[in-house]
Amino acid sequence: MRASSFVESLLVWTRSIECEALVDKLPVVSHPGYGDVENWDPKHRFVMSKFGGMRNVIESTMHLREEVEVVEDFAPVSASTLCLVHDRKFVEDFCEGKMDPRAMRRIGLPWSPSLVRRTLLEVQGTTIAARLALERRLACNAAGGTHHSFADYGSGFTIFNDLAVTAAWLRDERLAKRVLILDLDVHQGDGTAAIHAGNPDVMTVSVHCESNFPFRKQQSDLDVALEDEVGDRDYLLRLSQFLPSLLADFKPDIVLYDAGVDVHADDELGKLHISDQGLFDRDVYVLRTCLAMKIPVATVIGGGYDRDHLVLAKRHAIIVQAAVACRQWTRTRLLKSNKVTN
Ligand SMILES: [Zn+2]
Repeated sequence: MRASSFVESLLVWTRSIECEALVDKLPVVSHPGYGDVENWDPKHRFVMSKFGGMRNVIESTMHLREEVEVVEDFAPVSASTLCLVHDRKFVEDFCEGKMDPRAMRRIGLPWSPSLVRRTLLEVQGTTIAARLALERRLACNAAGGTHHSFADYGSGFTIFNDLAVTAAWLRDERLAKRVLILDLDVHQGDGTAAIHAGNPDVMTVSVHCESNFPFRKQQSDLDVALEDEVGDRDYLLRLSQFLPSLLADFKPDIVLYDAGVDVHADDELGKLHISDQGLFDRDVYVLRTCLAMKIPVATVIGGGYDRDHLVLAKRHAIIVQAAVACRQWTRTRLLKSNKVTN
């Protein structure tokens, strides 16, 4: 896939900026346990097979396989890291299977020990992607984006909030001071906004469809509420109207980017009309804008809902395709500038 001429025209300013070439492989964090939940109903709206499916897509696509280094050997996140933003009782109740049935119904996923394990792995995956992004500019977690989770409860298929935890963890470890959470999932990042409300060093930005869940919205530092059926061109224009100036003003040490694919026209829940090309363009736009400003980015996959699980896995792999394309762009630019100076 190649970026459209429209997104190239929006990014034309990045051509004049000195950009360092990304030469190492792209780290993609993908634990085999991400989708490993016993007796998962294959008809459940939350598609558990998409995590393994996305990894298969990456490993079976030659130009991706050659550019990617899969990071898969790591332990689940610790309770103390989760408790940087979550209430200890919530963490313990979920991990020990003592959640109130009503609280589990609000999450919408059936509890099991393997669900606990995958949940803790997924959060850890985002912290690892963030650390790798700080070292290598760009890294992807092939999971994450559990943004409807609040300090003391989960909802909308999300239990612990990997984005909010990772922002707090980066600051606690003194790996980053200012963190921008850029949430482009079709649903508002309500839990993330509530957890970091009033924290001047963690900026929460959510671009979402106004009429989608959650119906009671929280207040992010910046909310862009889109009307139903917004398509590729309008979506990119709205994004380009604020992102470069916001990055220049806030100057984050890292961006945590939720590349939810439920903005897609065929998504079962999302009400926007973004195409495959539009998804790729959106991700290229975000990544190249950050790279041109020398801001590291860690990506998470966010939401995506489709009965066709292979189609869904391919849709989620678009963020990795875009990251690979952006790395190639930095290398091409370096070659060109060397030619000029030689
Ligand atoms: Zn979503």
